[in-house]
Amino acid sequence: MFEKILIANRGEIALRIQRACREMGIRTVVVHSEADTEAKYVKLADESVCIGPPSATQSYLNIPAIISAAEVTDAEAVHPGYGFLAENADFAEKVEGSGFVFIGPKPENIRVLGDKVSAKQAMAKAGVPTVPGSEGALPEDSREVIRLARRLGYPVIVKAAGGGGGRGMRVVHTEAALLNAINTTRSEAQAAFGNPMLYMEKFLENPRHIEIQILVDTHKNAVFLGERDCSLQRRHQKVIEEAPAPDLPAKLRDKIGERCVEACRKIGYRGAGTFEFLYQDGEFFFIEMNTRIQVEHPVTEMVTGIDIVQEQIRIAAGEKLRFRQKDIQVRGHAIECRINAEDPYRFTPSPGRITSYHPPGGPGIRVDSHVYHGYTVPPYYDSMIGKVIAYGATREQAIRRMRVALSEMVVEGIRTNLPLHQELLNDARFLRGGVSIHYLENKLIEEQKGAR
Ligand code: ADP
Repeated sequence: MFEKILIANRGEIALRIQRACREMGIRTVVVHSEADTEAKYVKLADESVCIGPPSATQSYLNIPAIISAAEVTDAEAVHPGYGFLAENADFAEKVEGSGFVFIGPKPENIRVLGDKVSAKQAMAKAGVPTVPGSEGALPEDSREVIRLARRLGYPVIVKAAGGGGGRGMRVVHTEAALLNAINTTRSEAQAAFGNPMLYMEKFLENPRHIEIQILVDTHKNAVFLGERDCSLQRRHQKVIEEAPAPDLPAKLRDKIGERCVEACRKIGYRGAGTFEFLYQDGEFFFIEMNTRIQVEHPVTEMVTGIDIVQEQIRIAAGEKLRFRQKDIQVRGHAIECRINAEDPYRFTPSPGRITSYHPPGGPGIRVDSHVYHGYTVPPYYDSMIGKVIAYGATREQAIRRMRVALSEMVVEGIRTNLPLHQELLNDARFLRGGVSIHYLENKLIEEQKGAR
């Protein structure tokens, strides 16, 4: 096992990885920007290295600075967390090229799966069902594009091959709007991701977002840890996640889980990963694969009892998985609310000093957050300040516990989306379970109309 790991991230996930390491007796090095010097997890780390000014491009995305930090501290492995460089194949390659272990998949797998066009092609080839759409990138010839959209039937969705975080996609409802939409999305994709390549999919009108968590070691052992339902989304970004997915037939879940595991074996994948699907009318359609730990991993940890971050570390150290598929049991139900520093209804970021902070507790409540009383949320990064996870023997119990937790939680000095979560935990349609990915967005639009 490693003696020292460098954590190339910030915020709650840096703390989460640090906790996994400390429990395993592994020393930690945390790299941080000038904006994060005062963070508690930076002080708790065995060593910390300031790698640059607040701007992420000069710090958390600064590959040479991170590699030097690993060199001067004699770290053996690098955990990239999520976001920032977590799915950057060049970073993984440079980490390994400099003699460190990258806690994640092989660079060539990250490269293929990080490009959504090649990911879809690879998965289709490996027998995973995908959303009907263009085979590969959209052609330049507009007549061909129009023909393709007609064949799929409107609405269609135009997506950037390099997109992520819910950005770089546009829904098109009519042929008249198609070519303009493609041009705009292409320039946005070039500007945001440095890659103008686009593809097209049938826009599914009523799907749920269901994803499969997998773990693969370097000895050809692979398992899936059940599924998560992440259908409550705003602007294609997840707000609440849960495991297992309400009313999903176990047979269909097992079948798709086995397909994912099989695909991982075929492409020689290693580490943790997530297959994201849209699920509609009893059918799964692959949309993308995430080759890293995800924000919502705790709900799976709660229902399986498996520490996914520690498994990532064990796999990277070359250990064999200690369980087989038949050992994986999903027990009870878990729900996660992402707590953001933002206006709960206008969604504008709300950074600043937290003047009062009381996290919730009690049976089945887990809080993954790096913030504390007196902490200042910097304006430079993602607005998520933590996650509240509620576990219960049943979905009903998890919901009741989450309601109590949200009512106990106090965050003052900044605005948060706690009121939105409280409302959703009392929403009749959510309580029934199985809402589609468009539900929250439509609900918010309706409420705005009502307020006018
Ligand atoms: P990102 O990498 O930005 O998260 P994804 O491809 O995973 O992008 O899509 C994010 C979300 O966008 C999905 O969870 C879903 O809500 C919506 N979406 C993506 N593709 C489609 C589609 N073909 N039909 C309907 N919604 C879609």
